[in-house]
Amino acid sequence: MRIDLLEKKILRKTGQAIAEFGMIEDGDRVLVALSGGKDSWTLLHCLEILRRRAPVAFELDAVTVHPGFPGFRTEPLEDYCAARGYRHFVERSQIYEIVEAKRHPGTSYCAFCSRLRRGVLYGIARREGFTKIALGHHADDLIETLLLSQFYTGEIKSMPPVLRAEDGQNVVIRPLCRVFEEDIRAYATVMGFPVVCCGCPVCGVEDQKRKQVKALLRQLETEHPGIKASMLSSLGRVRQGYLMESAAP
Ligand code: SF4
Repeated sequence: MRIDLLEKKILRKTGQAIAEFGMIEDGDRVLVALSGGKDSWTLLHCLEILRRRAPVAFELDAVTVHPGFPGFRTEPLEDYCAARGYRHFVERSQIYEIVEAKRHPGTSYCAFCSRLRRGVLYGIARREGFTKIALGHHADDLIETLLLSQFYTGEIKSMPPVLRAEDGQNVVIRPLCRVFEEDIRAYATVMGFPVVCCGCPVCGVEDQKRKQVKALLRQLETEHPGIKASMLSSLGRVRQGYLMESAAP
């Protein structure tokens, strides 16, 4: 697909999701979590385009949380943001040290790391007065999480497009929730975003279950095109009374 058409498609789906779920309001200060991966770059770039066109006025800043992994470099991100005029800052954290010191053997490195990273983001948003935290999760993340929850924790749940945090203050939004990963990957490649590696010791190794689910969905989509879109749609069409909810109060 031509880059202009692909960008139009991503912007349309992102704009629709923002409107459908009421993600951004007039006066919002939105903080994009820029990890340096293809998803967060696409999110930042598309939100900036939409911000300039939006009927409501909102601010947009990006933060890169440095987790402390020795190989992680923020310079390519800082340089690119400066060249593009994006408002961006780096926040150093001690995620690496804490995970190494406190993680119980046998528990997930990624789950612990993600929880800590989320906590750091919440702290920054509170400190700096941001009203929304935008994360780069996309449609594949949502349906993979749905299957992972069913397969491994016996629950039906995913990642909501808008989440009010337990601290009662922070609000997380996922503007790419209707955009599939293949479009993001193609867009990020053509746009030449400086994708950087997180530098963590388990990158590409840890999350085997998600990899399996991703491969399963890829295979099913090849055999039955439209399955992923149907699964995404199902997240918004829960038929109350057709599951196994207990009658007990
Ligand atoms: S892959 Fe690495 S950086 Fe990403 S969540 Fe897992 S531990 Fe953290």
